[in-house]
Amino acid sequence: MPATLDAPQAASVTALVEDLSAWERTVALYASDMPSTYGSQIPGDADVLGWIGQGVARLGRDEIRQRGSYLAGYRRVWLRKLVTREIGRRHSQRFPSARRLNTAESRASASILYLAKPTPAAQALPAVIDGQCPKCDGAGKVWATWVIDDASDWCEEGYGPCWLCQPEEGAA
Ligand SMILES: [Zn+2]
Repeated sequence: MPATLDAPQAASVTALVEDLSAWERTVALYASDMPSTYGSQIPGDADVLGWIGQGVARLGRDEIRQRGSYLAGYRRVWLRKLVTREIGRRHSQRFPSARRLNTAESRASASILYLAKPTPAAQALPAVIDGQCPKCDGAGKVWATWVIDDASDWCEEGYGPCWLCQPEEGAA
């Protein structure tokens, strides 16, 4: 007998996955039995849903959320080439295999496009930097020139929220 999910079970896995952002799905896939070399011919392969469910069962919802936030924070810093030794070390401890993480990230993105769109609540997962912020050294604010009014080019210098570690709601 092939291991097919019956309808109610499949529906509940989909509901579970919809509740997860791409970052959380990546964390779940990394922790699952998904082969590191997994590259589906079919972008929307439903096996991915099963593996995401398996990863959530293994780590628990809170841990998935925490690691997902850290992964989102790491990518923010990494994109701007600001990864410090501390941030890089903690990231590698969490994800020792860059190859596996890469596979998990690409399957998680595909799951958003083809399988289950995340709910707005899932998309609002905050990005958290695991370590001292390389931009503000943990102060949470930076000295900069802020545009007060676009139309008149009115700018003022002063402290404002750090754009790297204090992202606006939903801007992660
Ligand atoms: Zn900062």
